[in-house]
Amino acid sequence: MDLLEETVVPEAARDIKQEAREFAAEHIEPNAAEYYERGEYPVDILEQGMEAGLVAQDIGEEYGGRGLSLQQVLAMAEEFYKADAGIALTLQLASFGAEMLEDHGNEEQKEEYLRPVAENEQLTGLAVSEPETGSDMAGMQTTAEKDGDEYVLNGEKYWIGNGVEADWVTVYAKTGDDPNNRYGNYSLFIVPTDTDGYDAEHIPEKMGFRASKQAHIVFDDCRVPEENVIGHEGAGFYMLAEFFNHGRVIVAGHGLGLAAAAIEEGWDFVHDREAFGKSVDEFQAVQHKLADMRMEFESARALTWRAADKVANQENAGFWAAMAKTKATEVSTQCAEKGMQLHGGRSVLTENRISRVYRDVRIPVIYEGANDIQRNLIYSQTPQ
Ligand SMILES: Cc1cc2nc3c(=O)[nH]c(=O)nc-3n(C[C@H](O)[C@H](O)[C@H](O)COP(=O)(O)OP(=O)(O)OC[C@H]3O[C@@H](n4cnc5c(N)ncnc54)[C@H](O)[C@@H]3O)c2cc1C
Repeated sequence: MDLLEETVVPEAARDIKQEAREFAAEHIEPNAAEYYERGEYPVDILEQGMEAGLVAQDIGEEYGGRGLSLQQVLAMAEEFYKADAGIALTLQLASFGAEMLEDHGNEEQKEEYLRPVAENEQLTGLAVSEPETGSDMAGMQTTAEKDGDEYVLNGEKYWIGNGVEADWVTVYAKTGDDPNNRYGNYSLFIVPTDTDGYDAEHIPEKMGFRASKQAHIVFDDCRVPEENVIGHEGAGFYMLAEFFNHGRVIVAGHGLGLAAAAIEEGWDFVHDREAFGKSVDEFQAVQHKLADMRMEFESARALTWRAADKVANQENAGFWAAMAKTKATEVSTQCAEKGMQLHGGRSVLTENRISRVYRDVRIPVIYEGANDIQRNLIYSQTPQ
């Protein structure tokens, strides 16, 4: 069964999809269970991904990357996440947020910070969420106050992928206090992680995505030069909103990969298991579960690839991205739930892939904007 078959994928994304599939089969799948148990950052697999030219390659060729398109990164996401979500997130997060530097930064910034990420010499991350605020992007409290030709950052960020491992992170901080212009109060900064006043530690162990690492960052009078502002002061919210449209299509790919893993596991299990003197797959109730899983998966996949085109062409991008992210990640939770039921008691053995998938699917329904927030966006951005 090839759930991630390529006919829905545009021609231009099929070669990289194949590369990602082969990489996942050789490097991710065989190591998934072990990394899940150990909960360690998979440095060796990240390095293999870099050697294979599959890490941070959405960055343009002029800055040392492969210039992979949204559809190409989506095709990779499906394959990687089917193999293991935690390792996949680590592979795909090496350049997280750097796309905004590429789109809005100046040449000096791109040469100094973007090129090393594209050439896999450095890692980066995106620091938006805070301990007390995740969904309300116009309610974040970390401040960046201008002092001469520097900005002084104070506050905390939470859940930040690569916050410990990265060489620099893109930080979203408050630079204004205008209650009538809530969205214009924020800016983005390039912050090298060895700057005085930057302190990061890993957050506590998670139940899912075990091979990915997130950080709690504290900024204590952390000074960065004004040259480190991306775009211009006050533009942070808008750059982020645009960036998340791309990100949410990719997160839909996270959901599709996980849903495919759940369907594959459920299917295989019931064909290998006997009850009441026959193979479990012969019971109609079991067949209906598998039929429902497949229908929902195909619906979500069709929507996601449609959304990818819409977002790439900037046609009501926010609306389509939010729909794809919500549908695909929720289908992954439904497929995982049914996949568990089909496994009977064995579903809860932590060593079984279905139980890993079941724990992983809880996460993409939250990150890159909780699905309740996506529903707000879908309604408010419905084209009239
Ligand atoms: C594994 C993982 C990796 C992550 N990586 C990153 C990262 O690299 N960088 C980063 O910046 N962040 C990251 N995040 C953070 C993530 O984006 C936030 O968790 C998410 O935006 C939700 O914020 P919150 O957890 O503060 O939930 P809250 O904002 O506290 O919301 C809690 C719940 O309240 C409900 N809710 C809140 N507001 C509304 C509303 N207006 N309407 C309807 N319902 C609402 C929703 O059900 C929501 O799930 C990561 C999170 C996880 C779990």
